[in-house]
Amino acid sequence: MELNLQELNKTEFPVPVELENNVAITSLSQLYNWGRRNSMWPMLFGLACCAIEMIATASSRFDFSRFGFEVMRATPRQSDLMIVSGTVTKKMVVPIVRLYNQMPEPKYVLAMGACASGGGPFKEGYNVVSGMDKYLPVDVYVPGCPPTPQALLYGMIALQKKIDGQSIANGDDVPWYGVGPSEPTPIPVLGPDIIDPRQMDMIRRQAETAAEDTELLGVRELPSTTQVAAKSKVEVAEKTETVAEVSTDALNFKLPTGGTPWSEAEDIREKRRLRALARKAIRASRRAEDADEG
Ligand code: SF4
Repeated sequence: MELNLQELNKTEFPVPVELENNVAITSLSQLYNWGRRNSMWPMLFGLACCAIEMIATASSRFDFSRFGFEVMRATPRQSDLMIVSGTVTKKMVVPIVRLYNQMPEPKYVLAMGACASGGGPFKEGYNVVSGMDKYLPVDVYVPGCPPTPQALLYGMIALQKKIDGQSIANGDDVPWYGVGPSEPTPIPVLGPDIIDPRQMDMIRRQAETAAEDTELLGVRELPSTTQVAAKSKVEVAEKTETVAEVSTDALNFKLPTGGTPWSEAEDIREKRRLRALARKAIRASRRAEDADEG
């Protein structure tokens, strides 16, 4: 990259024209920002269709190296920019936050496209998070579905402008120079749904309120609960030799999302359990054989 010292000459002290290419009078903050903004290294990872546009932006026609973004790094430890390019699923948000925590400070996040910015066409889908900013501090949003390479370049230049505005004299701008280690971003937990550990108190309070309020618990009966209740009814009916009319239907009830009826599911679970036990026994006998040979 060509060195342009005139970019740095922004003080009230004039530099003679003949020396402008050799001498710069500037502040420490400006020098620091100038170094950082011109050597951002994005992390090499993509999530969905937006990633294709990001790859196009890196290739020769658009070539974001011209702006100092240089080579993409295949490890978070050598990256200071995370471009979240694509749909962020609940499964994927966990490793994304883990990768972010592995990046050294100072680090920045750019949400590329409608999906990463707010869920996009999949907003409030069962498996998609509604925006990366719910989990990471996003610095720049690039709208579009997908954004063009020009739009991504514009977003990257906007990030450079943001860096230009930071001052190392202001602790809020550069919190990574604070005293002590910085706190890692809590990694979400993927269970039946994604859980942000920062909301754990709220979730616990809601669960306690629901447990206290029995009426609230009865508002919506889950299909699986119905199946359990139906199964116990059948067992009771079999013991008392009376047949309940709805029980068989309930046992064959399929979830709206598809899946296996309860009666078959039980067989499958039992088979899986037996297979797992068999595998465990084989592993144990192999270990015993190895130990004998050793
Ligand atoms: S914003 Fe559009 S192009 Fe980008 S990942 Fe989502 S659906 Fe694909």
